[in-house]
Amino acid sequence: MDEIHIKNLEVYAGHGVYEEENRNGQLFVADMILYAELRKAGLADEMALSTSYGEVSRFANRYLREHTFRLIEAAAEHLARELLLTFPKVERLVLELKKPEAPIGLPFSYVSVKIERGWKTAYLGIGSNMGNKREFLDFGLQEIKNHPEIKDVCCSDIITTAPYGGVEQDDFLNGAIELKTLLPPYELLAFLQETEKKAGRERKVRWGPRTLDLDILFYQDFISDDIRLTVPHPDMANRRFVLEPLMELCPGYRNPVNGKSVREMLEELEGDSVGR
Ligand code: ATP
Ligand code: MG
Ligand code: MG
Repeated sequence: MDEIHIKNLEVYAGHGVYEEENRNGQLFVADMILYAELRKAGLADEMALSTSYGEVSRFANRYLREHTFRLIEAAAEHLARELLLTFPKVERLVLELKKPEAPIGLPFSYVSVKIERGWKTAYLGIGSNMGNKREFLDFGLQEIKNHPEIKDVCCSDIITTAPYGGVEQDDFLNGAIELKTLLPPYELLAFLQETEKKAGRERKVRWGPRTLDLDILFYQDFISDDIRLTVPHPDMANRRFVLEPLMELCPGYRNPVNGKSVREMLEELEGDSVGR
């Protein structure tokens, strides 16, 4: 990925845990690396195809002056988020925020925090088999689209499937969703569980009837085998109702655990005579 660098951007602002720091202000210095595709802008020699380092610098300067945080951690976290939301061509960034006049009482050149934040691609499974299923799916999708830290949401066609897991219940509607998000995996999970709750989801039996089920299938190439969050979803290779909608969105996406693409997993499942 190409990079735009902004080095030693100076800002006079009021961040600090001491009241006089907030009142009097002091010098802060920011370094930024913005990761973006620059080839089109380079070939066309066209500003509109790139991200203006001038606009980014002025935005950062104004943001740090107009907000007051106690910690430079917080100033950096919030600024990174605002930059990613405001400049959509920036896919990720590294931000170092330095505080050369921090009240330490010893000789030093600066203290700083350095963070990397960016948009991550995730795929979700969405399903319902209770009540007005279509409405629950639409509700879930709308909540996802409305989240400020989620963008580029795309939903597959919805398919009808017989229930899974041996519990006697109504047919399912299932689909898959592609999105980009600034939320890390566990924060995305918490948001999805909150959305399930808003849709009246009650957990009684595993694989039992539900108004809305939102599962994380892939989160970029993140791998986790924690019981609270297992990603990639461990049972996807056995589920046609997951692989078929995913096939529409990302046939070539490789499961980082077994190295197989969605297409390969679906072909293997269809070759399996007991495939569900
Ligand atoms: P399955 O995960 O087999 O499709 P389910 O979706 O019916 O079953 P739920 O009742 O929705 O299961 O969730 C059970 C638990 O699974 C949740 O408490 C959640 O923490 C955990 N979990 C683990 N991995 C994931 C994941 N990738 N996405 C969503 N929840 C997960
Ligand atoms: Mg599920
Ligand atoms: Mg679930």
